Amino acid sequence: MDIEVAVIGAGPVGMAAAAFLHHAGVSVRVFEAAPERAGQSRATTVHPRTLEVLDALPDDAGSLAARMVAEGNPVPAAHFATLPNLLSYTGLDTSFPFVLMLPQPETERLLAEHLAEQGVVIQPGWKLADLTQDEQGVTIVSETGDTQRVGYVVGADGAHSATRHALGLGFPGNPASTVGFLADVRLERPPAHPHNWDCERGSYSVLPLPGGIHRIFGHEPGDTGLTPEEAARRQALIPDETELRATLKRLADDDFGITEVIWASRTGDTTRHVEQYRTGRVFLAGDAAHVHLPAGGQGLNVGVQDAANLAWKLAAEVKGRAPRRIIDGPQSYDAERRPIAARLAANTLAQAALMVTFTPGGKALRDLMSGLIGRDGDTADELRGWLSGLEVSYAEDGSLVGRRVPNLPLADGRTLHRALRPDRLTLVAFGSTVPEGENVVRSTRDWHDLAAVLVRPDGYAAEVWTAGEKITADWMER
Ligand SMILES: Cc1cc2nc3c(=O)[nH]c(=O)nc-3n(C[C@H](O)[C@H](O)[C@H](O)COP(=O)(O)OP(=O)(O)OC[C@H]3O[C@@H](n4cnc5c(N)ncnc54)[C@H](O)[C@@H]3O)c2cc1C
Repeated sequence: MDIEVAVIGAGPVGMAAAAFLHHAGVSVRVFEAAPERAGQSRATTVHPRTLEVLDALPDDAGSLAARMVAEGNPVPAAHFATLPNLLSYTGLDTSFPFVLMLPQPETERLLAEHLAEQGVVIQPGWKLADLTQDEQGVTIVSETGDTQRVGYVVGADGAHSATRHALGLGFPGNPASTVGFLADVRLERPPAHPHNWDCERGSYSVLPLPGGIHRIFGHEPGDTGLTPEEAARRQALIPDETELRATLKRLADDDFGITEVIWASRTGDTTRHVEQYRTGRVFLAGDAAHVHLPAGGQGLNVGVQDAANLAWKLAAEVKGRAPRRIIDGPQSYDAERRPIAARLAANTLAQAALMVTFTPGGKALRDLMSGLIGRDGDTADELRGWLSGLEVSYAEDGSLVGRRVPNLPLADGRTLHRALRPDRLTLVAFGSTVPEGENVVRSTRDWHDLAAVLVRPDGYAAEVWTAGEKITADWMER
């Protein structure tokens, strides 16, 4: 089959999936409804774990992640629910100990350039209308009646996913009850504090983006407690410069000298999660599988990690060498990623409650949570590990299997994340006991006193051995 995998949607998740699949040796094509790139700003934050997985995509700058870092604005800390005490990323065990502020169109442009350099085709103006599948493949049908026969489909076509509709899957969850404002603007005098919250007036945040632009967002008390109909009506009213000025004056007594509104939108707290991530030969990833309030900048990040988790498993299946447990067993895409998005939904709902409960009780709760974060103890560690993505894990009961393996320095001068191969597992040896072999690398740093760890293409431990245990790299054959 010419096209082994069709990716529906050239958003960040679809393009990342296509890049990972291509590097794993799969013939892949991306089908995108829009005739040209829309350039909506939307996501502005790229967290460390996302940069780590994109660091495995090689290009002239070293990696796609290196290119993103060169164009973005690294800031040292993340916010949780816009609380005043921030979560510092400095000192995290990663090559990217910062939040990268990079508007989504830039991330998308860099992904699109990467795909073009690799010869992966993005077909614009091709809108999926329907699909049917049998045991040999999938037939995808465009709105204009064009049909393509492909091996598998990754539906990364966003919140209103036609792929999800064609599969007839439910998308249970909560409709929006809160709708805030959001815009990218130029300001003459940005405020001193990024996050500001007042029980009676509401909240506003002002964050620096590259190029002298600021992202502003917030809520007023009247933005909350809406019926689904009210929320839908409000979501459709995009604020213009006059309204943004008036809103900021009500919230802060100052419009901070807005000189230009580059892009404006509304944020809602609709929270939905698809029933299953795989139906036969068709998968869902990113916003097609889960939507939530964009709080803490997580949607794009979790979606790109969906893509990283799925791509190597699907590549192995396409090539006929996938063990059952990664197809429909405990290490399958659905089994590993659905609990992550369930946690994402809960996390963003909790942030929404902290952000828009404009009552004395809401204030007390914010003060309590911010105080706990400010102590920099377990609470801060837990939230930091989650938001950065570095402690997201598929391990059970404290086991190392399923944990992210850090970017270990290797004896040959490389680091682990760039040494990972998209189409095979990498055996990392910590001592001299492991035999030389293809895809065996030696770490010059210890990790949990192990003798060796077998690392999956997405950077998680598949199997671990302590000193004296027999080491076998036949995980894919078992
Ligand atoms: C206002 C706002 C602010 C946000 N801020 C952040 C943030 O700071 N950090 C963060 O991580 N996330 C943020 N998000 C979320 C983030 O933008 C999304 O999670 C991310 O875009 C999801 O990527 P995706 O590729 O899954 O879907 P999308 O970006 O929606 O891409 C889907 C693609 O599929 C195409 N498509 C749709 N239907 C079809 C079809 N039938 N056939 C073919 N193609 C189709 C679309 O044209 C689009 O190109 C924000 C979202 C919003 C709305």
